[in-house]
Amino acid sequence: MSNLFEHSTIEVLIAAKLDGTITLTELLKHGSYGLGTFTGLDGEVIILDNDVYQVDQTGTVNHITDMNTTLPFASVHTPSENEQPLTLAKADFALLNQTFAADKNLKNVFATIKLHGHFNAVKVRVAPKQEKPYPSLLAVTKNQPIFDTEDVTGTIVGYYAPELFGNITAAGWHLHFLSDDHQFGGHLLSFVGSDLDGTFEIFDGIEQHFPINDPEFRNHENDLATLKAAIEESEGFQD
Ligand SMILES: [Zn+2]
Repeated sequence: MSNLFEHSTIEVLIAAKLDGTITLTELLKHGSYGLGTFTGLDGEVIILDNDVYQVDQTGTVNHITDMNTTLPFASVHTPSENEQPLTLAKADFALLNQTFAADKNLKNVFATIKLHGHFNAVKVRVAPKQEKPYPSLLAVTKNQPIFDTEDVTGTIVGYYAPELFGNITAAGWHLHFLSDDHQFGGHLLSFVGSDLDGTFEIFDGIEQHFPINDPEFRNHENDLATLKAAIEESEGFQD
């Protein structure tokens, strides 16, 4: 069995509920790799083999060791027996979205990739920290800091979600990046990589976890008519 563990939903970020509802201590019980964001959309989180890194709005990468730090949304997994080696001579979002997704038949499943190697070009966004009263993720991403770099060695970690689940998470690929020298990272908007090595895994299922003790989560309204488009606009790539 292999599960993707999702804490809360991207919908809460669109609904401007940005307070953390799970600690890193709790989150890491459910996975050793993953991504997310901290309270107030304080940067982009990437988790690599239980090490937690935050790229903040200045583009600085911080190694987070305070396990009481909280996240309003996160996706994590622990590699399982479903994991397969993956080598890509050349990769970008177009390849992952088209050839790769078709070859692996991802249409109706959740999956993860981890890829390490050389990147000719990488463009990321980093969510800037917000104060209360919080705005929606959609409003924040209209003015998000964007960083790009060339010729960097690093790691991509992230997830593929089927279209069917596009109201609770980002449908398609949601990928974060961290350079080996920890000088660059964020939520991937575009990339061109070559000679990438890593792993790929299709999950048997997902464990959708909810912050049931959070009154804001329990009471908030969601706007289903506009939700999916808002998630796509805030979380989509830019190829
Ligand atoms: Zn992200």
